[in-house]
Amino acid sequence: MISSKYYSGYKIYVVKKNGVRELFDVNKLVKSLLNSQVDYRHINRILAILHSKLYDGITTGEIKEVVCELLKEIDRENGTNYLEKYREETNLVVRTSNNEIQPFDKNRIIKKLIDETGLDGKTAEKIGNEIEKSLKKLNLKYITAPMIRELVNAKLIEYGLEEYRIRHTRLGIPIYDIKKLINEGCRENANLMHNPESIHKWVADETMKQYALLEIFPKDIADAHMRGDIHLHDLEYAAIRPVCCQHDLRNFFMYGLRVDGTGRHTSVSKPAKHPEVAIQHAAKVLSAAQCEMSGGQSIDEFNIWLAPYMRGLSYSRIKQLMQMFIYEMNQMYVARGGQTVFSSINLELEVPEYLRDKEAVVAGDVRGTYEEYEEEAQLILQALIDVMMEGDAVGKPFLFPNFIVKLRGRAFKDENRELMVKLHELSSKWGIPYFINMYPEWQVENTNAMGCRTRLSGDWKGDVEMDTLRTGNMQWYTVNLPRVGYEAKGDDDRLFEVLHERLEIIKRALYIKHHVTERILKGGILPFLTQKFNGEQYYRYENTTKTFGFVGLNELLKYHIGEELHESKYALKFGEKVIKYIRDYADNLKEETGLRWSVTQTPAESTAGRFARLDYRYYREECESVVNGDLSNPNTLYYTNSSHVRVDASVSVGEKVRIEEKFHPLCNGGHIAHFWNIEAYSDPEVLMEITRKIAERSDIGFWTYTKNLSICERCGRTIAGLKDRCAYCGSNVQRYSRITGYLQNVSNWNDAKRRELIDRRSNIPRI
Ligand SMILES: [Zn+2]
Repeated sequence: MISSKYYSGYKIYVVKKNGVRELFDVNKLVKSLLNSQVDYRHINRILAILHSKLYDGITTGEIKEVVCELLKEIDRENGTNYLEKYREETNLVVRTSNNEIQPFDKNRIIKKLIDETGLDGKTAEKIGNEIEKSLKKLNLKYITAPMIRELVNAKLIEYGLEEYRIRHTRLGIPIYDIKKLINEGCRENANLMHNPESIHKWVADETMKQYALLEIFPKDIADAHMRGDIHLHDLEYAAIRPVCCQHDLRNFFMYGLRVDGTGRHTSVSKPAKHPEVAIQHAAKVLSAAQCEMSGGQSIDEFNIWLAPYMRGLSYSRIKQLMQMFIYEMNQMYVARGGQTVFSSINLELEVPEYLRDKEAVVAGDVRGTYEEYEEEAQLILQALIDVMMEGDAVGKPFLFPNFIVKLRGRAFKDENRELMVKLHELSSKWGIPYFINMYPEWQVENTNAMGCRTRLSGDWKGDVEMDTLRTGNMQWYTVNLPRVGYEAKGDDDRLFEVLHERLEIIKRALYIKHHVTERILKGGILPFLTQKFNGEQYYRYENTTKTFGFVGLNELLKYHIGEELHESKYALKFGEKVIKYIRDYADNLKEETGLRWSVTQTPAESTAGRFARLDYRYYREECESVVNGDLSNPNTLYYTNSSHVRVDASVSVGEKVRIEEKFHPLCNGGHIAHFWNIEAYSDPEVLMEITRKIAERSDIGFWTYTKNLSICERCGRTIAGLKDRCAYCGSNVQRYSRITGYLQNVSNWNDAKRRELIDRRSNIPRI
């Protein structure tokens, strides 16, 4: 039983924190001690001792101190836990972001404001005091750190301190969205499966995107992106990753492999001695680099670097090794949130001129020059074709690596005929190979490409290896061309003014990313790329491209001059003028800055739809008159990619070549021509004839034949075209086509790309 005998008729005044005097009420104290589960005996002891320490005018703080001291003593004597409970009971506590519970302390708010935002101490203190006051009024038991941060943000807004609020704000993702991601996944990128890794990636991506738009780019650039004037690609990686790289295996074959770049976190390999180890190292180079980059990872001259390792091996052994590599690239399910590496290999029919007299590297040593290994290089190519042709265990095509073959001057010589026929059989069966046309003069010595269509050629500083190997694209950002047209309202001069303004914004954005990337390279955040071989950094960052991309030239023309790209010579000429303007802008910047600026045909997997949707919102009338897709469902709206002919335009293959070839020499950072629906003419000999004409007589620099495929889930048979059911057993099928740069299961596509696919299919090309 509680004995409050000392306090009967007791009248002293206590002073509260806010200065108000009030009569001391022993019952309040008893209640809070009871709530803290202090037992009667100990409460009596506290009341007895406290009585002797009270005086008129004592503060509530002092009383609390005495009580805490006593509880501490009692805890020590009895092994109880009163003090902690009493503190929780009587203080406002904060659940912090480190998963701890701490008493509320306004000084933390003040310190954070000063440290994180640079706000002056006086204002910070004022805000701290006001927050404390309003929390008191709320009479809460606990509060979370994010709630406090929101209250502080509200105060900052109230005081007009918006720039401080941006620095102080917390980034993240609502519970609803996380739940949705966990349950339904997200269909932004056709490569991402719905699994634990990808869910983590999405949640992190969302935060990093917000960070990029708030912290990396100034408000006007972020706004231009959000409005859809331009598109800033890979925002989730803006702070931490450049895009892509063309790898050179010689460094690893000479000095060995450290996949973490340092050897501190992972085992260190000596240079590969055996062919299977060389193959494994090739695969691991790609996956290690993918951990540091957002886009494609490619090995240029793949069959040349590996050729010396194949010396003396039988064809079946070489094929076995290539099969191992292909499976590695399709089954290493590790990169960027549980995806396979976005991989490509560039292949040669013969050892190219610039490598013929270069030392061939094997097992940390040099064994002759590469021209001595032409036969092995060709066997590798043949083996790769055979492996790709067979498909996987259930008969599906291998989606990776993107299989890129360079056609140089001797491609159509008789001695290469067998390989060329096989390549086109591979096109005919799966639509797999890509071709680089090395015939035109503007393809300088070596040109390579990858799935994201980034192009490097020996046209930068004149040293072909420096220009094309161990470097890649730092970033590309894209201009919404149709909107430039809408804003120009038919006026040519205005059109180029608006275009110029947009390019200026993109230039600034690329510059910012350039400085960010330089900083992270110096900061050691990309250790695989910055590792040194023989004193020289592996990644040739100074040779990376900074690139202007574009979407919707066709719809710009349709709006601005009333004709589409394929409809008149004038439209084509005007289209060339627009892209030439972008190219000149990039070339001038090269002069000015010494950086490698270039122009690319953006592979707009989601951008073509995003621009169209935003224009449908902000420029409804203009957009409706030119956009593709179904107007009753804005999610299906899309613009034609880059300077391509509209996918359902009625043109022959030859006419398409004559139009699109105009843009390949202009787009020095990347270009591609697509030939869709080849199931309609998939005789390998016919395809090879088209290839010969393109190579010998056109300026098309890079292209691929796409075959639509349906693969039976039950019997595994492959059927040409996109079917609803298996033609043999009537079961469900998985349907495949090329989305922008790579083959992909159609069920993963976004609505706009699905709509584009429907339009593509309505158009069977004439040859
Ligand atoms: Zn079947």
